[in-house]
Amino acid sequence: MASRKEYFANIYNTVKSISIGMRITLKYCFARTITVQYPDVAPVVKPRFRGFHWFEAEKCIACDQCAKACPIDCIYIEKSGPRKIDKESGVAVGGALQRYAIDYSKCMFCALCTDPCPTDCIHMGDNHDLSSYTREDMIVEFTDLAKEGKQTPEPFWMQQDKPPAWAAEQKQRWEERAKPVRDEMLKALEPSEASKK
Ligand code: SF4
Ligand code: SF4
Repeated sequence: MASRKEYFANIYNTVKSISIGMRITLKYCFARTITVQYPDVAPVVKPRFRGFHWFEAEKCIACDQCAKACPIDCIYIEKSGPRKIDKESGVAVGGALQRYAIDYSKCMFCALCTDPCPTDCIHMGDNHDLSSYTREDMIVEFTDLAKEGKQTPEPFWMQQDKPPAWAAEQKQRWEERAKPVRDEMLKALEPSEASKK
């Protein structure tokens, strides 16, 4: 049974935590409203932001660790045979990585999938936008993106001919990041020579 001291301490802590929360709420109630003209103006994305994933297909051994860690089972992986990292090249060899997809209509961006990855090939990215017209479009097929040399999905409007300057730069940064491993990404989608023998 709680002592009288604990009883009043609980009341004090409750009032204190509500006051802290209300102080932040009130601060924003009276703050000046700012409308960011996105996508014409770049959004501010903090360094530890957890956005749509960035996936390195060439390092994925299709071990399912990420899928098992996902609390809502929204990662889908298919392979044609066992895969492992080749010590010499540092890329995965073996069976083909046939599918790596994430259903973003379910994903809650908790990042639990990134921690257990033994080859450090799935990361939270810096893109916050995947607007689309259907639920099906919310399922991102990363293996299809790999065929196009991409590691992360692009917002719908970024795929237009003339995206805003900041978005064109961001798109170029993403492309530059994937460019050195483009060939390895494509190879990951096919069984490697060693596994065919
Ligand atoms: S971020 Fe969380 S919910 Fe989304 S795929 Fe990873 S583990 Fe699943
Ligand atoms: S992303 Fe990492 S954890 Fe997930 S299947 Fe590939 S290697 Fe395994």
